Amino acid sequence: MSSQITRDAVLAALGQVLDPGLKKDLVSLGMIKDLSVDGSEVNFTINLTTPACPLKKTIKQNAENAVLAVDGVSAVNIEMSAEVPAGQKKAEYGFIKNSVAIASGKGGVGKSTVAVNVAVALAQSGARVGLLDADIYGPNIPTMMGVDAIGGATENKKILPAEAYGVKVMSIGFMVRPEQAIIWRGPLLHSAIQQFVNDVEWGELDYLIIDLPPGTGDVQLSLSQTLDLQGGVIVTLPQKVSLDDARRGLNMFQKLGVPVFGVVENMSHLELPNGESMDIFGSGGGKALAAETGVPFIGEIPIDQAVRVGGDNGIPVIISHPDAPVSQSLRAIAEDIAAKVSVEAYKRS
Ligand code: ADP
Repeated sequence: MSSQITRDAVLAALGQVLDPGLKKDLVSLGMIKDLSVDGSEVNFTINLTTPACPLKKTIKQNAENAVLAVDGVSAVNIEMSAEVPAGQKKAEYGFIKNSVAIASGKGGVGKSTVAVNVAVALAQSGARVGLLDADIYGPNIPTMMGVDAIGGATENKKILPAEAYGVKVMSIGFMVRPEQAIIWRGPLLHSAIQQFVNDVEWGELDYLIIDLPPGTGDVQLSLSQTLDLQGGVIVTLPQKVSLDDARRGLNMFQKLGVPVFGVVENMSHLELPNGESMDIFGSGGGKALAAETGVPFIGEIPIDQAVRVGGDNGIPVIISHPDAPVSQSLRAIAEDIAAKVSVEAYKRS
């Protein structure tokens, strides 16, 4: 005869299962919800801190194994859910739970490509995502997302963002002609940035992904003064000149007090049709830079023509070729960023 299973025994077992990102157990983190014991069956929900959790399957499996090991348990039914915590502590911007800036030392390294595909990947996982194109030198997010205007205005005269692939999109390109924004300086740029946050009806967002202009300057400063940024990501090419620029980008985040999530190396190699990999710009530079500066290496992205074609046609590669190696890399990068946001939000709680 099986012994009576108690909730305490189940919770004690789950108290041994860690969230590897947050390095605490599921019970102390308050992630176990709706626990019920029905004869020899145990049912509960694990409420993660992001729907894009890279270790979702592992956590579920570990929880299942732990509870199955409790005396008398014959079956375990686990539902997975997620509630993204707010790292953003400025009460007036509470509707943006977390914001992450994507930066680069120079243009043309794939910063916007990363911003777009990360935003779409997070939205596909079920998160509420906004994408803010603050690149005054080349606001190309609308082209890459296949949108060309704002979504209209609300009754109280707020701007409705455009929407594509489940992502709310706002671009400096919707507001001014490109040649205008480039000549803006400090105060004017600062008020434009504030407008992006204050006058846009974002609704509640789990993540706001921001495409910064390349280099270091007023936009970076204004954004970090306006929003309590959770993290910055630096995109670089593998070759030395690009890495030198990326190093300056890292310094900028550090000076602004924005936590550096890490380095992404784009165009790190070319995947040949026969499955071989060919270095074009050399590879490994991003990893070396991360090691040298003591920041995490987030991942590398291969060169794939489908990225450029998708960018030009307004269909992000993660949508047009979801299973291609390049899309798998981009999805893993999005998940890593989501996990780092959770850790940062947890630190701030
Ligand atoms: P940035 O925002 O840094 O200026 P973009 O994201 O606009 O750079 O990318 C520059 C160009 O390179 C675009 O045409 C884009 O489609 C292309 N591109 C970016 N990453 C890749 C990649 N991994 N493979 C192929 N083309 C890429």
